[in-house]
Amino acid sequence: MKTDIQIAQEAKIVNISEIVKKVGLTEDDIEHYGKYKAKVNLDVLKRLENKKDGKLVLVTAITPTPAGEGKSTVTVGLTQALNKLGKSSVAALREPSLGPVFGMKGGATGGGYAQVIPMEDINLHFTGDLHAIGVAHNLIAACIDNHINSGNLLNIDVTKISWKRVVDMNDRALREIVIGLGGKANGIPRESSFQITVASEIMAALCLANSLMDLKDKIRSMVFGYSRDGKALTVGDLKIEGAVTALLKEALKPNLVQTLENTPVFIHGGPFANIAHGCNSILATKLALKLSDYAITEAGFAADLGAEKFLDIKCRKGNLRPNCVVIVATVRALKHHGGAKELSEESLEALEKGIANLDKHIENMKKYNLPVVVAINRFVSDTERELEFIEKHCKELDVPVALCEVWAKGGEGGIALAKEVMAQLEKETDNYTPLYSLDLSIKEKIETIAKEIYGADGVEFSSGAKKMLKTIDELGYGNLPVCMSKTQKSLSDNASLIGRPTGFTVTINELRISAGAGFIVAMAGDIIDMPGLPKKPAAELIDIDENGRIEGLF
Ligand code: ADP
Repeated sequence: MKTDIQIAQEAKIVNISEIVKKVGLTEDDIEHYGKYKAKVNLDVLKRLENKKDGKLVLVTAITPTPAGEGKSTVTVGLTQALNKLGKSSVAALREPSLGPVFGMKGGATGGGYAQVIPMEDINLHFTGDLHAIGVAHNLIAACIDNHINSGNLLNIDVTKISWKRVVDMNDRALREIVIGLGGKANGIPRESSFQITVASEIMAALCLANSLMDLKDKIRSMVFGYSRDGKALTVGDLKIEGAVTALLKEALKPNLVQTLENTPVFIHGGPFANIAHGCNSILATKLALKLSDYAITEAGFAADLGAEKFLDIKCRKGNLRPNCVVIVATVRALKHHGGAKELSEESLEALEKGIANLDKHIENMKKYNLPVVVAINRFVSDTERELEFIEKHCKELDVPVALCEVWAKGGEGGIALAKEVMAQLEKETDNYTPLYSLDLSIKEKIETIAKEIYGADGVEFSSGAKKMLKTIDELGYGNLPVCMSKTQKSLSDNASLIGRPTGFTVTINELRISAGAGFIVAMAGDIIDMPGLPKKPAAELIDIDENGRIEGLF
């Protein structure tokens, strides 16, 4: 069996100019980043302002096993299939981070015969967006410490600085650090820490920005800490929002690449799916909607996290109206939720128990008044009886379902899914309604998500979180949406509760203000924003030969 990278390297890749033509743009609309990548200028969106949008399809998933259940793979396969059927379709995906690439999870360009290329470039450095975001973030950090060292006119409380430094790497040794050591010339010593770049608020803001000036406004309002008299301090107080935004001028332009079948894909922005909202940029999604009849996008983790935030945060901020949700389910993950240990062995019993997880995600997506299609992402170990069981179950629920074989067969393997999705889109699908109103208090918003989406009985707030609820109101941030941060392994906030848990309470330990990105992060459990590498990191498998040919990426 060929590896993902072998398949990607054997593909017939075309010059990006051909893809540019395919989406109806000209050379004036883009900037080349080598032969196979381009950035699209933002004036294109202005020019197409009055053009009708295509339909927006979100690909999400059931609660996954650690390897992922194939959202990116199905997203890429679905757009390939639609193009194969002669439809115009563009996908919009997230950019990979080097942390997972060298850690455990691998890249994020799909898999098998449903991939985005050039795979090595996209996974390593790409067009430099993550670098720009990291530098922009660290400019703010440097200016904070410089301000303190230069007399501290803002009266910054050095014990209450929430702005960290970032690097795009899994590096647990940087979680707790002391900076400013070495005497007076090196500044004021204080405790600090590093986040992975994708966890930066700059990444979230870039993905939620509707224009360059909107991004500047967002950066201006980012809270980096508090003064000794309790005032929230922003990047605007440091007078550097212009400089920070200047560093992001190119990074804000969506990146255009292609699938293995030479169909167009935007890959742009990749915020963490827990302390941020986990979706690609609004600008790339809008471009996909203007340039095709079917824009296919995905959101990180399962539907309780990624889709909820896509529907309650991203769609609201971008004024987007999604039309259909595809939920990716796998036999192995459903068996896992039914308590099976050996996931490649047939077990209808485990499947029957575990399918409650899929049911809950279907019910949840229907709360947004959106049609749902289930895509069964087929693995070689699945048996016919297992696949039939899921199909029959969905039919009994009157939920459209399709077996999806894009990993093994590319677009051809996604035709059945594409047809089901198109059938849904032919009906009246402009009924999207967010789960909660922004007028609710932050506490009520969190309770609504926990009860309606997770299935919790209620929510407990730590004393710190209760205090913060008050502060948020006093500072005037109460009307922001909530970005939930919890384990992706369970519908609940307890990773060990598989299936469809009931009778639990969600505990919120901490609330953080992301005023620039425009949401309040509610932390349920200890979520790490600087992952570590596993004992045997993927880095040990990656190699390059004298011709520059890379192997071992996945
Ligand atoms: P997600 O987006 O849900 O995290 P991905 O699409 O990135 O998942 O897939 C995760 C990994 O699983 C990739 O390495 C991909 O090649 C692999 N994969 C996805 N679907 C299949 C499949 N049907 N059979 C085998 N491997 C698959």
